[in-house]
Amino acid sequence: MTVFSSFASHLRRLIFALAATALLFGATAHADTGYTKTRYPIVLVHGLFGFDSFLGIDYFYGIPSALTQDGARVFVAQVSAANSTEVRGEQLLAQVRNILAITGASKVNLIGHSHGGPTIRYVAGVAPQLVASATSIGGVNKGSRVADILRGAAPAGTLSESVVNAAAKAFVALINLGSGGTSLPQMPTAALNSLTTAGSLDFNRRFPQGLPAGCGSGPELVNGVRYFSWAGTQPVTNILDVSDGPLGIMSLVFGEANDGLVAACSSRLGTTIGEYRQNHLDEVNQVVGLRDWFSVDPVTLYRQQANRLKLLGL
Ligand code: CA
Repeated sequence: MTVFSSFASHLRRLIFALAATALLFGATAHADTGYTKTRYPIVLVHGLFGFDSFLGIDYFYGIPSALTQDGARVFVAQVSAANSTEVRGEQLLAQVRNILAITGASKVNLIGHSHGGPTIRYVAGVAPQLVASATSIGGVNKGSRVADILRGAAPAGTLSESVVNAAAKAFVALINLGSGGTSLPQMPTAALNSLTTAGSLDFNRRFPQGLPAGCGSGPELVNGVRYFSWAGTQPVTNILDVSDGPLGIMSLVFGEANDGLVAACSSRLGTTIGEYRQNHLDEVNQVVGLRDWFSVDPVTLYRQQANRLKLLGL
């Protein structure tokens, strides 16, 4: 064997070993571990700001792919950005029926953010036989004080006029930011009414499933549907995120733990999974993953919830 052929042989073996290692690593990185492989499809339901995207990107930033990577079947619903809970709920119900037809599944796991919380509760309320679980994240389940202020329904005398006005302006600016619009958003009154404390209480009288009486956990299992929730309680989390300013201003009107738009107590539904250092947009890993990098990754919470559902056989 010449020196050259020996070298070539070594080189071939080295290349083969490298290729095998790369294949192994590639396979490991992309392996479906089954961690998020729920029995029923997962349906993500957005809140007031988005359609299926926010600033032209996924509303649930990086979340569908993180769930599908380990086995979940994930659908992102598209309902009216700003409409009543009932109208949004009927739209979602129609999409759930389509998803069941497409997948052949008998139920879905609903996960809703913000106004998506009451929206999934509507579907779980009117069609519990189609819903395995309803998970509410930063859900406006007992109203938002910001909506009360915008609707002129906030109790007087507790806040300075300037803070109220600043909060209202910040809210409108945030909606504009999310929708990419340059003109003032026409936020339909129906949506705003649904998000006020009074509007929410009216809805809750008809759809009380999973709600706690106070600020603790509510019943987890109602009419065969499992209810869960988690919430953010840190309005300002990342100096690089332009949405932190408006959320920080709006948080001033609450006087209790909140995520800049929804009080933690208002968001409770079923079993309370936890409270995290997240604001209202961090809860969906926005804007583009800008959140408190020293606390739990929002995407991880969705993966853990999928695993929790899987372990429950859902
Ligand atoms: Ca953020």
